[in-house]
Amino acid sequence: MKIKEKCGVFGIYAFDQKWNVSRFVYYGLIASQNRGQETCGIAAFNGEKISSVKGRGMVEEFFSKEKLENLPGWIGIGNVCPFNPESAQNIQPVSDNNSGLGFTYNGKILNFKEISTNKKTGDNEDANVAATLLSQELEKSDPLEATETVMEKFKGAYSFIAITKNGEMIVARDPMGIKPLCIGSFGFDHGAVASESATLDIIGADYKAPIKPGEIYVFTPYSIERKQAFKPEPKHCAFEYVYFSRPDSFINDKSVYEARMKIGEYLAKEFPVDADTVIGVPETAIPFAMAYSDYTGMPIEMGFVRTGRAVRTAIKPTQFERLVGVQLKLNPIRHAIRGKKVVLIDDSVVRGTTTRNIVNLMRNRIGAKEVHVRIGSPRLVSPCPFGVEVPQKDELIAANLAPDEVSKVVGADTFAWLSLEGVIDSIGFPKEKLCLGCFTGEISLSIF
Ligand code: SF4
Repeated sequence: MKIKEKCGVFGIYAFDQKWNVSRFVYYGLIASQNRGQETCGIAAFNGEKISSVKGRGMVEEFFSKEKLENLPGWIGIGNVCPFNPESAQNIQPVSDNNSGLGFTYNGKILNFKEISTNKKTGDNEDANVAATLLSQELEKSDPLEATETVMEKFKGAYSFIAITKNGEMIVARDPMGIKPLCIGSFGFDHGAVASESATLDIIGADYKAPIKPGEIYVFTPYSIERKQAFKPEPKHCAFEYVYFSRPDSFINDKSVYEARMKIGEYLAKEFPVDADTVIGVPETAIPFAMAYSDYTGMPIEMGFVRTGRAVRTAIKPTQFERLVGVQLKLNPIRHAIRGKKVVLIDDSVVRGTTTRNIVNLMRNRIGAKEVHVRIGSPRLVSPCPFGVEVPQKDELIAANLAPDEVSKVVGADTFAWLSLEGVIDSIGFPKEKLCLGCFTGEISLSIF
C-alpha cells in the first residue's frame, strides 16, 4: 500500500471579469492529480452566484464539456482528494449560496468538532465546519480580519482557498506551513494559487513564491492585500519531498527533484553494496536510483513498466486478480533483471506487502540473483495527525521489526531505510523547521 496525501487545491482569480476560468481550474486539477484520485470538484463565481460541480473519480473522467459549461465565472477554485466520503456533501469544494462562500482546503483541522456550532458534526465535516465559521465571520468583518479570527480558532494543518459572494478570493496557510501552497500569476490579468508550483507551470502561470506560514492573501477586483497575520512557526511536511509532490515542483522554495537526487546519493553513501545494477520503482524512486548510480558508478536500468494509473490491489477479490494488479502496476523488464545482483530503490514501505510482491516477482519469476532493497525515506513508525493516511502503529512494519527482520519478511538479501539525518539534509531545512512525526513518533508542535 501507498500512503495517501490529503488533497490538492487550486484557485484562480481573473481581474478582468470577462474571463471564464473553469477550464483553467480543470487543467490545474489534472496537473494536481498526484495528490488525489478519488474525488474532484470545481466552484466558480460569476458576480451573481457560486456554481459548483463535484463528484467521484478522476478529473478527466468526471468532468465533461457540459459540466464545465455549467461553471461560469471569473473566480474559480478546485480540489482533488484521495478519500471518498460517504456523503457527496463532504466532497470539496464545499459551497453554499446562502452563506455565499466556496471553500477548499488541504489538511486537517484537529479541533473542528469542538469549534463547530453544530453539535451533530460528523467525522468528515471538517471543510464544512471551517467554511461555516469563515462565512459567519465574513458577515461581521472584512475578509482579512475574518480570516485572522478563524485562524485563531483552528488548530491543525491547513492551506485553504475560499471565494466569496462579494467577488473576493481568500487564501491562507497555517502558521506551521505543514501543507504546501504557492502563488503565481499571468501578468497583471490573473492571480493563481496551487498546492504545487508544477500546477502553475502547466497552466502557463509564472510561479512567484510559497505562501508563507501564517500568511493571508485577499484578492479583490482592485487589489491584492497580503498580511503576515501570525508569526511563522515552520514545520513543513518532510513527506512532500520524499513522495507526495511532483518532482517538477518547488515546495517551500525547495526543489523536490533536487531533494530526491540528494536522497539517492545518501542511500549510496550510507548503504553501499556490491551489485550489478540499480533500479528505481517508478515513478517516485527514479531520481533516487539515478543519483545512487551517479555516486557509485553502478549502471542504472529501467526495471519496470507501469501500465496506466495506479490499481488498488487491496480490493481485488482473488489471488489471481491480485497478481494481475501487481503486474499491471509494475511489470518487470526481464532483460534488465535476470541473473543480476540488483539494488532496488523504493520511496517508502508501509506494511511491506508491496515490497514483498516486487522482490518475489524479481527473484522467483524473473530470476534476479540478489535483491538489495533501499528505501528513500526513514522508518515509518507512527500515524500522521494531519490528514495523511498512515496506518496505525501495529500495522507499520518499521515500527515492529528491525531491518534484518524486514529483509527476511520481504525476501530481500539486504534491506535499509534512509537515516533521519539523510532525509533532513537532503531536503535542506533545519530539523526544527520540518515535521518528521511519522518517522519519529514525535509531534512536538510549538503552537499547540
Ligand atoms: S506526520 Fe509525516 S506525513 Fe504527517 S505532516 Fe508530519 S511528516 Fe508529513
